[in-house]
Amino acid sequence: MKKYVSLLLLLFAPLCTHAQLKIVTTIPDLKSIAEYIGGDRVNVFSIATGYQNPHFVDPKPSYILKLSKADIFITVGLDLETGWVPALLNSARNQRIQKGGDGYVDASTNIPLLQIPTSVNRGEGDIHIYGNPHYWLDPLNGKIIAQTIAATLSRLDPGHQVQFRANLKIFTEKIDAKIKEWEGKLTRFKNTKVIAYHNEWPYFEHRFGLTIVDFLEPKPGIPPTASQLTKIISIMKSEQISIIINSPYFMSESADLVARNTGGKVVTLATSVGATETIKSYFDLFDYNVDQILTAIQ
Ligand SMILES: [Zn+2]
Repeated sequence: MKKYVSLLLLLFAPLCTHAQLKIVTTIPDLKSIAEYIGGDRVNVFSIATGYQNPHFVDPKPSYILKLSKADIFITVGLDLETGWVPALLNSARNQRIQKGGDGYVDASTNIPLLQIPTSVNRGEGDIHIYGNPHYWLDPLNGKIIAQTIAATLSRLDPGHQVQFRANLKIFTEKIDAKIKEWEGKLTRFKNTKVIAYHNEWPYFEHRFGLTIVDFLEPKPGIPPTASQLTKIISIMKSEQISIIINSPYFMSESADLVARNTGGKVVTLATSVGATETIKSYFDLFDYNVDQILTAIQ
């Protein structure tokens, strides 16, 4: 009998050790951080790609299937994904990952939010009504996201707590080291005034000291209008601004038009991991953006 038990243990032990937590994230940045913390204990899928506007993602049946089998769902939260996440979660019918469930992770937990409006006016089409949701673009917030993910993994897979804690430490130390490098590179350009297409850079601005003066969109989520572009052209001329920050998912026509009329330059920055083929991790994202800004300003 004892022999059989040990045989059974041998048979099942490898299965147990190798059962990974299945994680679905809304954006690839959360996937990258979850992989740093979870290591070989997790299998992570991101719904949105890095070159997609995270506010607007078309739901697909394959996403519902992934969500129906997930142990953990990680969302940016606030109102970044309100246009597409509730319907997907509803269709997935997976209690674990519904809001309030054991595997539901709101990555905005503990994040010091910027631009929390004092009054809410949905009528104007604003899609940032709970504060600016693009917080992963400050690498210091990446550390907070990593802590939240580590806590969840430790709760759901307590046998590997030590591993998650060690991975969190490595991730945190790497962020601290890289921040010094990134800040060092951008320090000469502190307070450089720029224009952006969409209001998704306040956390990046806050960390690295650029000054974003205005946006091509008249309101977050409202495409540029002729009157807004005219206003931007005159601001750029009077304040001698020469940089317009675009994102991979916005057509470049508006930015190009403004650039032509001001002698300015359009810089497309990455808003997420995977925005270009070279951006494979959360660290690559900032390496890329810092280099893009340096090239544009020099
Ligand atoms: Zn936004």
